[in-house]
Amino acid sequence: MKFARLGDGGTVVLAERSAPVAGEGEIVVTLAACGVCGTDLEKLRGNYRTAGVLGHEAVGRIEALGPGVTEWAVGDRVFAHHHVSCGTCAVCRRGDPTFCPTYSRTNLDPGGFAESFRVPQENVRRGAVLRLDPAIGWEVGALLEPAGCALTALHRVGLPPHSSVFVLGLGPVGLLYARLAKALGAAWVGGSEIAPRRRAAAERGGIDAVVDPRTPGALRAAVDRATEGGGVDLAVVATGHPAVVRDAVGLVRRGGTVNLFGLPEAGSRLDADLQELYLRGVRLIPSYATIEADIAEVQRLAVAGRLPLADLVTASRPLAEVAEAFRLAGRPDEAVKVIVTGAAY
Ligand SMILES: [Zn+2]
Ligand SMILES: [Zn+2]
Repeated sequence: MKFARLGDGGTVVLAERSAPVAGEGEIVVTLAACGVCGTDLEKLRGNYRTAGVLGHEAVGRIEALGPGVTEWAVGDRVFAHHHVSCGTCAVCRRGDPTFCPTYSRTNLDPGGFAESFRVPQENVRRGAVLRLDPAIGWEVGALLEPAGCALTALHRVGLPPHSSVFVLGLGPVGLLYARLAKALGAAWVGGSEIAPRRRAAAERGGIDAVVDPRTPGALRAAVDRATEGGGVDLAVVATGHPAVVRDAVGLVRRGGTVNLFGLPEAGSRLDADLQELYLRGVRLIPSYATIEADIAEVQRLAVAGRLPLADLVTASRPLAEVAEAFRLAGRPDEAVKVIVTGAAY
């Protein structure tokens, strides 16, 4: 079968390998759709130090069950989370499961951009496979994981009722974050983005103020108007550019929170006035990845019609054109979210 892997010189290439086989407690899923994530693009750029598995926003139909799998049937429509936490280590017990050592060790084989992929026993056993609601199409299914990342972040930083939120960078995850903050009751959500197409997606999703960060003073003015000069409760850095952290610090109120949400460039350094952070009591909270409970919650919000998602997928390409899908995903003026489709689509 065909699957996508990292090629030489920052490329993604299709390769051939034997089809995966479902071992004890495992399942094999025929790909329907898998979103191209910003972290997949960073892996191509050599900017992400994890192993080179591509594709972790995958949905499809179960094609085979390994011995001992009783709760699933061939043909079931599922989302399969690539990572699972152990649930028992000190990190998990303190409520930070995405930082569990087991979490980053588990993965789909050979990844989500494949004709079919194997879900390891640990993932199946620990609930990483979610049944897709009949109301959830493949496009929205492929958005559940990135939306789950936003929900996990919001849980980590806390979003008291009637909060004000500003999202810096409205790429796919920034848009999901902004829409989710609205859905969860934020009083005001603003955001900044260079690409007009993505600004339009934010406006469509009911974001209260959307500005171009290249306009001098635009972010500050939008936040001042909404908060009478006090600053937002939460500023979200949804890009990897370190300079944006400084902008975010300047937008939060005294005692407010800056959420490091986008994958920072490897080796980038924090450039902020530490005395300002100290005296204004700004919390700087990173959030990485998501867990099944949050992905399931996102699905419930989507089914209930509280979280508009479908319009964010603006392009899809079959697996054979995965390189073109990656090219599109790296062009903010051409696409918002790009998915790669497989035989179950
Ligand atoms: Zn992702
Ligand atoms: Zn753990």
